Amino acid sequence: MTHHTTPDQGFPVGGFPYPAEGEKTVVQGPTHAMSGAAAGLALATTLPASWGGATTTAEILAYTGLTAGAALLPDLDAPGSTVARTFGPVTGLLARAVASVSVLVVNVTGTRKDARISGGHRTATHTLWFALLVGFLAWSIGGVFGDNGVVGMLVFFSGLALRGLFPQWAKEKAGLVVVAVAVGLGVAAYETVPALHTPLMPASAVTAGILVHLVGDMLTKSGVPLTSPVIPRGGKRWWSWTLPGAVTIRTSGVWDQALLLVFTGLATWQLYLVLMGL
Ligand SMILES: [Zn+2]
Repeated sequence: MTHHTTPDQGFPVGGFPYPAEGEKTVVQGPTHAMSGAAAGLALATTLPASWGGATTTAEILAYTGLTAGAALLPDLDAPGSTVARTFGPVTGLLARAVASVSVLVVNVTGTRKDARISGGHRTATHTLWFALLVGFLAWSIGGVFGDNGVVGMLVFFSGLALRGLFPQWAKEKAGLVVVAVAVGLGVAAYETVPALHTPLMPASAVTAGILVHLVGDMLTKSGVPLTSPVIPRGGKRWWSWTLPGAVTIRTSGVWDQALLLVFTGLATWQLYLVLMGL
């Protein structure tokens, strides 16, 4: 593990290692979404039903859509991210709220050795606890808000999945077209997949999607604070898990595109098998 610091970001040297503005070691939204789709297809077809796994083709597709959408969610802490732009001002405001809460969480839970921050990306939303929290929200939304809550959740994740998986299409269409298709998909999923009326499958898919995002970001030099603030290291509560330097992505453009290609291939191949009933 390497501890990567970039003092030119306005944070103290030795502070929490954020990806710097100019440091392009990022995994882009579409790559996150496509890796979520590939993992979603694999999980939906292999997980036992007691873990939220799917048994019908419609369930597999629904699980995959949720996982692809949720794989964008941790970047709600970054205003320019795909997820922050999905539903215009709605997700824009949500992203700002999530960013503020994330800053608060870091500053409240940090020790004296942790840097106090005023902004930044990859903090509270890039932890295992965020994956569990959102999984719990997906689990409980039906109980709290009833059918409307579940449909709203499905529409939300459909929008994310559309933006992430079909970035070119989403860019060419007016925002309202994307929203309309998301609403159509969300309602159709609710009507045709009874498993979505129970908490297990949505919770499983959404949690998995977020975990896939965290793994994706782990491939970059800056890593992610997976276990923060629970497990301290060297007196700090906010530190990043990173992979050994040799396998981390240093130049995003090429690596990100290569990953996108690999995951598109994996997802397409699995989708073919599913649709052929193999
Ligand atoms: Zn991220």
